[in-house]
Amino acid sequence: MGKLVIISGPSGSGKTTICKLLEKDPLVKKSISMTTRLPRHSEKNGKAYHFISTNEFEEMIQKGELAEHAEYCGSYYGTPMNALREALEKEIIYLLEIEVQGALQIMEKFPEAISIFLLPPDKKTLGQRLIQRNTNKKQDVELRLKVADKELEYSDQYKYSVVNDDLEVTVNTIRKILGLT
Ligand code: ADP
Ligand code: 5GP
Repeated sequence: MGKLVIISGPSGSGKTTICKLLEKDPLVKKSISMTTRLPRHSEKNGKAYHFISTNEFEEMIQKGELAEHAEYCGSYYGTPMNALREALEKEIIYLLEIEVQGALQIMEKFPEAISIFLLPPDKKTLGQRLIQRNTNKKQDVELRLKVADKELEYSDQYKYSVVNDDLEVTVNTIRKILGLT
């Protein structure tokens, strides 16, 4: 049986960066989510996400093809159930980089899942990291920071909270939690 791992945290807390570093380990694989949001510059369909239309997404919900789904900042996001089930049949660590509403659905369906909430060192740093990433318009950054306040309220629902100050320290802490070091 594989291990299911939920990684959540406000936008800009470092989820994508950290998952990429964790994925360097051959035992770790990240789930590729479905989304209706538009791809960013560097994002390839089928790699960062499977980019689909709202109609296609709603059809997947109807058919029960998503392990969880949520609406976030005006777009749908969801975890494909088939890929998750296949992953759990293997001896791997399967990462779900998902927001809190979806995470709560997974915690209920898979109580054995390891859940990790990533925290920024402080709100100012979170804002700076979002601006420095330069992938969202000013308005979108403001919305994401507003949503962050709500998301932080859910951090105590997770088995672990990790502050992402120094990147290397954070990755090592998570590797320890996952039993990789
Ligand atoms: P998320 O996926 O949670 O939205 P990202 O992984 O895209 O966040 O990180 C947001 C920005 O912050 C990126 O530009 C990333 O390079 C940077 N970043 C992530 N972790 C750290 C860290 N520990 N120290 C400094 N910058 C970081
Ligand atoms: P972004 O637009 O920055 O890529 O992602 C926005 C938010 O959606 C992030 O918090 C990210 O973790 C979350 N997300 C990505 N994929 C999924 C998913 O499959 N399900 C849910 N519930 N959230 C997701």
